[in-house]
Amino acid sequence: MSEAAQYAVRDGIAVITLNNPPVNGLGNELRAAVMQHLKKAEADAAVKAVVIIGNTRFFSGGADIREFGATRLPPDLPEVNAQQDAMQKPLVAAIGGFALGGGLELALACHYRIALPRSQVGLPEVKLGILPGSGGTQRLPRIVPMAEAVRLMTTGAMLPVEKAKELGLIDEIVQGDLLEGALAFAKSVVGKPLRRIRDQKAKLDGDPKAFFAQVREQVAKESKGYPAPLEIVACAEAAATLPFDEGRKQERVGFERLMKGPESKALRHMFFAERQTSKIPDVPDDTPVREVKKAAVIGAGTMGGGIAMNFANAGIPVTLIDMNQAAVDKGLATIRKNYAATVSKGRLKQEDMDKRLGLIKSSIELPPDADIYIEAVFERMDVKKDIFGKLDKLAKPGAILATNTSTLDVDAIAASTKRPQDVIGTHFFSPANVMRLLEVVRGKQTDKSVLATTMKLGKALKKVPVVSGVCDGFIGNRMLEKYGQQSLFLLDEGASPQQVDAALAKFGMAMGPFTMYDMAGNDIGWEIRKRRYQERPDFAYSRIADRICEQGRFGQKTGRGFYKYEAGNRKPIPDPEVDRIFDAYRSEIKIARRSISDEEIVERLIYALVNEGARILEEGIALRASDIDMVYLTGYGFPPYRGGPMFYADTVGLDKVLSAIQGFQKGYQGAQWKPAPLLVKLAKEGRKFNE
Ligand code: NAD
Repeated sequence: MSEAAQYAVRDGIAVITLNNPPVNGLGNELRAAVMQHLKKAEADAAVKAVVIIGNTRFFSGGADIREFGATRLPPDLPEVNAQQDAMQKPLVAAIGGFALGGGLELALACHYRIALPRSQVGLPEVKLGILPGSGGTQRLPRIVPMAEAVRLMTTGAMLPVEKAKELGLIDEIVQGDLLEGALAFAKSVVGKPLRRIRDQKAKLDGDPKAFFAQVREQVAKESKGYPAPLEIVACAEAAATLPFDEGRKQERVGFERLMKGPESKALRHMFFAERQTSKIPDVPDDTPVREVKKAAVIGAGTMGGGIAMNFANAGIPVTLIDMNQAAVDKGLATIRKNYAATVSKGRLKQEDMDKRLGLIKSSIELPPDADIYIEAVFERMDVKKDIFGKLDKLAKPGAILATNTSTLDVDAIAASTKRPQDVIGTHFFSPANVMRLLEVVRGKQTDKSVLATTMKLGKALKKVPVVSGVCDGFIGNRMLEKYGQQSLFLLDEGASPQQVDAALAKFGMAMGPFTMYDMAGNDIGWEIRKRRYQERPDFAYSRIADRICEQGRFGQKTGRGFYKYEAGNRKPIPDPEVDRIFDAYRSEIKIARRSISDEEIVERLIYALVNEGARILEEGIALRASDIDMVYLTGYGFPPYRGGPMFYADTVGLDKVLSAIQGFQKGYQGAQWKPAPLLVKLAKEGRKFNE
């Protein structure tokens, strides 16, 4: 007998125990075992009812992700469900912990469901761009009210067990031992008529046509171009208007269509990419990690405050340090304001806010007892070196010394200590308490245990930690510089900020480059460019953005930038004054304005990311293409349904990307385009970045 599910009979009740760690994923072996046990129970005259049970953490997490893309052996889940439907004995699902996706579908094909308190159920398939493909779209609306069923399936939200009981999805909440409760429940239903969900009518009062017209309109608005939510609505409508088997057929067709579509492929790529980032080839999973029980953040400014909040949110005491009391107080006040805003939105309880604030101490002295120090002071090498020199003298042995620098050389910072093995970069993104990306910058001498600890800490802080080698700009900003370079060249040639932004927004970016620059502050880019003019003579820059800055147009904060802004409003408004500045610049550099297609705009900007990404991969700065994708998905507003720049390039075809770049080489500032050797090689071999 397979080990993936065990079978036992107690007092005339067959107990099928799912046993496929870690989450009782419904893999090949588990499905086969459940099928076999169901048949056995049905055939045994001594068995009066059947309980399917997992453990107290997972009834089942759904499809086994380890088998995604691998060969699936029969029986598939619909066949197991068909066997459940054919049973003549009551079937009880005993849910401890989570019943998700296929796991919930397994439970929905039972006649009864009971659960432990604090269990949660849900159909999260939509998050991977697909729909519940084994009867979920047909069974759920037959047991919970249609509007709620549609909400659950189109958002993938979890349903707490108490609410599930209220809606009729759960028959009983078991206090005490789940198996004992299940056995007692099963005995109580022996001999009663079998209540199959498939035989019920969908729970919808009124006219389905009118109801679904309204739902469709609402979901279309919320689904932002993703096809799965609307496909789910169509299946739910089928549940209300067609016989069960017809509805199932429609569900199957929709499932297959979504599975093959680009959006789901991208979302599934993202799902796996996120799980890959913490795998570092030369730092195995069993690398010893250091304890992080106390943290110190140096610099109570924009970034330091947000970083300190991350520690407090994770329950780790943190000291926030700045040069003087006024600076510290200002930092703390901002933190308090941020928490209070979350409380007023109802997303945090006042008592949790108080608890978190209680974990944040402040000081104007560096504390000697922290396990990790994160420096977030001004972006100046002399200031950073001074701090690291002090930390070297004062920190206890084994403490991790981290820097939040965006542009400075982490190895040079490490060299100002006698313990470069303990130095690492932790590059948070702004706002640091919100953004999920954390670039973990591995210095030449960073110890493996320091790297492993920082990666683990990143996860504890609920970030997506991605390893980057040391280079100018690390992964994200190094690529962004090429994107920015092209965005300005497009202005030189005649595009307007609003045209460029609209094209990128249509592509799916959270915002276009000029809206982004205005938000970040154009003075920051100007400062960097001024330095670059000296440091990087190989890098051609348009001076068009400087002309904007020379007028004091620093963006939102000055009410004028690439756009103009009305007081108290962040909506960018095109400004004819900007057109005049650009026209003057174009005559200065003697460029005749040409009309540029949205397609060219998107290709120039996105392929600039891809080409630099290829270099970053080739140089070993990023460990894998999917890490680069995660950086852009979690830190730069890249649309999830495109899977990140490298994945997107794979879907376009690297040969096409290369030939577009070769075309750009013949255009304006074409010398700035040099196809990355890795791109050329992979394109020639018909391969992909993500293989
Ligand atoms: P900020 O100017 O808002 O804050 C810096 C703080 O450091 C100030 O409060 C200042 O008083 C304090 N400080 C300066 N010298 C100090 C010293 N010797 N001892 C103690 N405190 C000192 O700057 P920020 O935007 O928070 O940036 C901090 C760091 O984070 C920089 O290295 C920056 O490059 C990096 N970073 C910034 C962003 C961003 O979007 N702002 C994003 C990622 C990384």
